[in-house]
Amino acid sequence: MYHHIDKLEQYIGRPITRLKAEQSFEYLFLEYMPKRRNPELADRKGFSWAGPRNRWCTATLKTRVIDRYLKDLAKDHELIQYIGIAADEPKRVREMRYPLVEWGMTEADCLAYCREHGFDWDGLYDIFHRVSCWCCPLQSYDELRKLRKHFPEKWEQLRAWDKQTWRTFLKHYSVEQLERRFAFEDARQAQGLPIKGKAFFDALKEHMKESET
Ligand code: SF4
Repeated sequence: MYHHIDKLEQYIGRPITRLKAEQSFEYLFLEYMPKRRNPELADRKGFSWAGPRNRWCTATLKTRVIDRYLKDLAKDHELIQYIGIAADEPKRVREMRYPLVEWGMTEADCLAYCREHGFDWDGLYDIFHRVSCWCCPLQSYDELRKLRKHFPEKWEQLRAWDKQTWRTFLKHYSVEQLERRFAFEDARQAQGLPIKGKAFFDALKEHMKESET
């Protein structure tokens, strides 16, 4: 993605301002001690993994950083904020300007347009359905399988972080358990067996129980 932005900057011939939060994801995730309403969590270090109702990283590392920057800029400039949400993501449309929605461009249209102009994100969109934070617990099992297969070093990083934090990666799976599940799936597929359906889930349940002991 960083490479993609550099390339885009050259293509448009105008500087792109990159915003960064003061504190890193790793620090906030593993070390930061927020004031917590729940006293039982008072001594837990770090925000830990995001969840469906707790997307702390979106607020802390993205929207607040942008808002702070724009607030400063607004002192001397009249601003128009353009958001790159595609026309087939209508639920996310709220305010400001959404040129892709105005032009009726879907995600598929945008990807095709970018490819026609020489942008291919170094193949990321050939692998993943959506490209967001690689370590996001809100991505699908399928995207996580692809992460494990195509970016094993990132997968290992995920396993290491998961051992250092207190919230479970997914509601029903730690990364270690996911590793066991995906390895089990690989073994079944190598034998020509399916990885869906009742027989698979029964076998998976048994395998997970055995591997816990
Ligand atoms: S994509 Fe996931 S990890 Fe990234 S900011 Fe959003 S919730 Fe957090």
